[in-house]
Amino acid sequence: LNRRLAPFGTTIFAEMSALAARTGAINLGQGFPDTDGPEEIREAAVRALRDGRGNQYPPGPGVPELRAAITAHQQHHYGLAYDPDTEVLVTAGATEAVAAALLALVEPGDEVIALEPYYDSYAANIAMAGGIRVPVTLRPHEGAFRLDLDELRGAVTERTRLILLNTPHNPTGTVLTREELAAVAALAVERDLLVVTDEVYEHLVFEGEHLPLAGFPGMRERTVTVSSAGKTFSFTGWKVGWLTAAPELVAAVRSVKQFLTYVSAGPFQYAIAEALRLPDSYFDDFRADLHRKRDLLGDGLRAAGFEVYRPQGTYFITTDITPFGQKDAYAFCRALPERCGVVAIPNSVFYDDPDAGRSQVRFAFCKKDDVLIEAGSRLRRLG
Ligand code: PMP
Ligand code: GLN
Repeated sequence: LNRRLAPFGTTIFAEMSALAARTGAINLGQGFPDTDGPEEIREAAVRALRDGRGNQYPPGPGVPELRAAITAHQQHHYGLAYDPDTEVLVTAGATEAVAAALLALVEPGDEVIALEPYYDSYAANIAMAGGIRVPVTLRPHEGAFRLDLDELRGAVTERTRLILLNTPHNPTGTVLTREELAAVAALAVERDLLVVTDEVYEHLVFEGEHLPLAGFPGMRERTVTVSSAGKTFSFTGWKVGWLTAAPELVAAVRSVKQFLTYVSAGPFQYAIAEALRLPDSYFDDFRADLHRKRDLLGDGLRAAGFEVYRPQGTYFITTDITPFGQKDAYAFCRALPERCGVVAIPNSVFYDDPDAGRSQVRFAFCKKDDVLIEAGSRLRRLG
């Protein structure tokens, strides 16, 4: 592995899912649902396969049906208008969208501000682009993690090129408020920064509302918005993601994407085009279901003795293990399957300074109710 990427090794998600497979523990580590998305959307994928739609290379920007559905979704849910021909790019998941955007927009030596704890591919992607990661740390405040706007402003220098935002935020579950987003937008405009905003959990907000950064004044032309069908429709294995942005930005990212994967997921693109046009009731029911699961797991974790930070969105709850007299989340997570048959993720790997998140452990609640209940009762054995 080259020197830039050597520090990143194997992702924590692969490591912890392998641990779950090896030990047979309940996997509340890697964030994927244990129930697949809607039957009718699976049928749509089968139809596309059978009818020969997408079995050969789809168009580089994505199939027209999906691009039109993405723009219709942005218009319907957020009142944002995008041109399906020039302002949308379909990618191999949000992972590729973020990677291609950073490779396209960051020059070696540019500083990229990322909220910390950060989703692990961000650090690797910034390194691939030759950028310098500048973390702005979300800190616990009244039982949840919050962004300190002064710290964000203080992180911008002459060399800052781009802010890599993520709301709703993985792993903390923080949903940035209208005021916070307005401040990020004002800063980006004032300092002439681009923003790549990862909004894959846009439909999983339980408190407050999801507001796309691209909708704030001055942001339409400087924001790359990333999302994914994996999270919104519970098909993480299909790897259908996308981004929307102004034509010059999409063109730049497309140039990179063509040499990464060229295209991907042909038949699945047609199925997701149908998914994006599901009625509002699908999105409402999905959110309500996950909201209930958040509370189910949250109650289990509290009963087991964890300090629980309250996520306003996403699939995840971040906890603190200090009440167990433990400080090292990594060691705690490695031992957890043997101690009680559960797998979780140490947030310490999402910090530049592992000491900062040393006692934080993340649990995923995108699982069946009986699995969450069983995990809760197993975790009570820790006490
Ligand atoms: N961004 C965030 C914040 C995530 O949590 C994930 C994982 N689901 C991704 C990007 C990657 O999404 P995808 O599976 O569509 O590549
Ligand atoms: N986004 C998922 C998580 O945070 C993991 C996806 C992956 O393994 N790349 O758990």
